[in-house]
Amino acid sequence: MQNLFRLLPPVDAVLAALGDTASLAVLPRAMVRDAVTDFLDGLRSDIRAGRLTDPAQLDHALLFSQCGRAVIAATRPHFRRVINATGVVVHTNLGRSLLAPEAATAAAEACLRYSNLEFDLATGERGSRYSHVVDILRTLTGAEDALVVNNNAAAVLITLETLAKGREVVVSRGQLVEIGGSFRIPEIMAKSGAILREVGATNRTHPRDYENAVTADTAALLKVHTSNYRIVGFTKEVSLAELVAIGRRCNLPVIEDLGSGNLTDFTSCNLPGEPTVQQAVADGADVVTFSGDKVLGGPQAGIIVGRAEYIAAIRKNPLNRAIRIDKMTLAALEATLRLYRDPTLARTAIPTLAMITAAPPALAKKARKLATILKKTLAGSYAVTTLPGASRVGGGAFPERDLPTTLVALSPLPGAPSPHTLRERLLATEPPLIARTQDAALLLDVRTLADDELHLVAAVLAQALEA
Ligand SMILES: *Cc1c(COP(=O)(O)O)cnc(C)c1O
Repeated sequence: MQNLFRLLPPVDAVLAALGDTASLAVLPRAMVRDAVTDFLDGLRSDIRAGRLTDPAQLDHALLFSQCGRAVIAATRPHFRRVINATGVVVHTNLGRSLLAPEAATAAAEACLRYSNLEFDLATGERGSRYSHVVDILRTLTGAEDALVVNNNAAAVLITLETLAKGREVVVSRGQLVEIGGSFRIPEIMAKSGAILREVGATNRTHPRDYENAVTADTAALLKVHTSNYRIVGFTKEVSLAELVAIGRRCNLPVIEDLGSGNLTDFTSCNLPGEPTVQQAVADGADVVTFSGDKVLGGPQAGIIVGRAEYIAAIRKNPLNRAIRIDKMTLAALEATLRLYRDPTLARTAIPTLAMITAAPPALAKKARKLATILKKTLAGSYAVTTLPGASRVGGGAFPERDLPTTLVALSPLPGAPSPHTLRERLLATEPPLIARTQDAALLLDVRTLADDELHLVAAVLAQALEA
């Protein structure tokens, strides 16, 4: 054992040997040194545990190449690109919406150059950061005024805090939603200082339930879009228009948390049932809140539109400073919203919209193309076939709607790693690929694969098989 320890090269010798590796030369020295030390420590514990017993395994040329790979893997940025082969378009764990190139460029420019973030170029004086998106949001939604904050959870929080702190807000029991990542209406309500006044039953709420709940303590009526679930069967929901009528009679503002906040009507794509922001405004909602990075397809943001008096009050709330939107987001958001001025352009230029509305024949064609590429890479190890399947919008939108797609299925031939093992190995490729398994096959959904990722999918599968 002592002899084996003596065969280990010193850290400096390894560093010198790795000196020519171009991808390591750009890294901070301390980072590379730590990774080399960890690699050698790993070998020491292998020797101690009796896992490494053959001196041939400590051949320096072999060690240097193994160490080079280990150092590259260990020094990769923690936050990095992955390939999404799940078919879930707005995948919260994989970064929700991808930005349109126009939006990414605008964000990069906002980072690399000074900007008129809070500077009024008309007067040469201090300006408002919100001014950049107010007009376009008014035009797109029909609302009187608009405000943007960090995300929709913050939008709901500040709206309730401003309009209803210490007073009651009436909500249907069927709408006390929990969104992934611990956003729950009752808890946000409590944090805002507003008092939740639940009405109706889980499956049925009537207009009279709201009317009977209104007292001198009532501050607002709230409608929450049940984004990620549907109540089906014997049900009754009060429509926004009905709620607005009650609000008007009782002189109370009506707030709607739309969640996803579509600006696009997807009915023509066979995706009915999701209200648009424009419709909520037209139906008379006084304040509407929604996300920037769900089906809207922009950056993470919370958008609040509605009546000028309420938006002005929310804007002045000191809490607004704590949940303030940053300049990169604002730049990306404005660029995304500009694309919506031409709805046809929006559907092709905004990746989230393009992926949701992708035509089934185009997906079938892309799947066949991927299958042809993979048949070459995986010859002898996996049978590659295409089959009909279903993708999801994700992000809590269109919860029970399947989008028809074509999947590429990889079924192992004798001797090949199981789909489960392959799926795990794909988490360690560069870049990692996220896919699902079903019925003894690994499934790749082309809906969420960009055209220029098909050859990359083949390359990472080859990496996974070498592992
Ligand atoms: C997603 C969602 C939220 C939270 O929005 P974020 O932008 O994720 O903060 C709030 N309400 C509803 C109904 C949602 O669907």
